[in-house]
Amino acid sequence: MSLTAALAYARHGIPVLPVHAPDPRGGCTCDKGVSCERPGKHPHPRHGLHEATTDPRRIDMWWARWPEANVGLRTGVAMDVADVDSAEGWHGLCHLLGGEFPAGPRVRTGGGGWHFWFNPMGFGNRVGLLPGLDWRGVGGYVVAPPSRHASGGDYRWVHRPGEPLPDGPASLRALIEGPPPVHRHGPIAHPTRYARAALAAEADRVARAPVGTRNDTLNRAAYALGRFVGAGLLDLADTMRELEDAARFAGLGRAEIRSTIRSGLTAGRRAPFAPDPFGSGANGSGRHVA
Ligand SMILES: [Zn+2]
Repeated sequence: MSLTAALAYARHGIPVLPVHAPDPRGGCTCDKGVSCERPGKHPHPRHGLHEATTDPRRIDMWWARWPEANVGLRTGVAMDVADVDSAEGWHGLCHLLGGEFPAGPRVRTGGGGWHFWFNPMGFGNRVGLLPGLDWRGVGGYVVAPPSRHASGGDYRWVHRPGEPLPDGPASLRALIEGPPPVHRHGPIAHPTRYARAALAAEADRVARAPVGTRNDTLNRAAYALGRFVGAGLLDLADTMRELEDAARFAGLGRAEIRSTIRSGLTAGRRAPFAPDPFGSGANGSGRHVA
């Protein structure tokens, strides 16, 4: 049953969160029911991923409330996951790894995909790493066994996790690393992907900011992300929602959150991120100031 599994994951240092389950009558256990777009895959708690925990008392409370919950695991802490959802993704990963799969943990998802677990690499999520292959890292989560999939199948272990997890091969790391850090000179190959990773990482930083640094962290995050919004690489409403959620989780008050986000985003949008070969996007020169 999923509580036992959730507690076992937590004992291994993997932050857990309860995720809505597919409704046996169709759709999802959330309020949207049959019109839910991500049945059995999105978190129960209001602040989502940021609430993931290894605290057994919290996990007990959650499962007392939602005994049928699917088990969500936060990635980027104790493990990262290569998320394969098609045969194309499978072949792409296999090719990337030189024709072999790692001997590490492998999950067959109830929907016909696979999850391969690796040691955390420190990167954020990368959606569309290859066709049919996503990377779940910092700021991400996966649904884990014994959860149920909306298609009716269960998430099952093909190879159970042991110690230690395999390191991601260099070829995989190179692909994930993809766009170089902003401070390095050189073009950024995938600016949208880069911006999405920045959003996940900044929201995570805000959610975990210690008391005394929260407002400053939020302000810096809003400014940094505002530059992506200004460049058209992030959606303004999405960015605000994500930052607000993270800041509320950190414990900041609503009014303070709103004003800090607004001023940071406004300033950032005046200095749009410019992924050009000369790295001028990184130095804050603000040459695009409106
Ligand atoms: Zn739902």
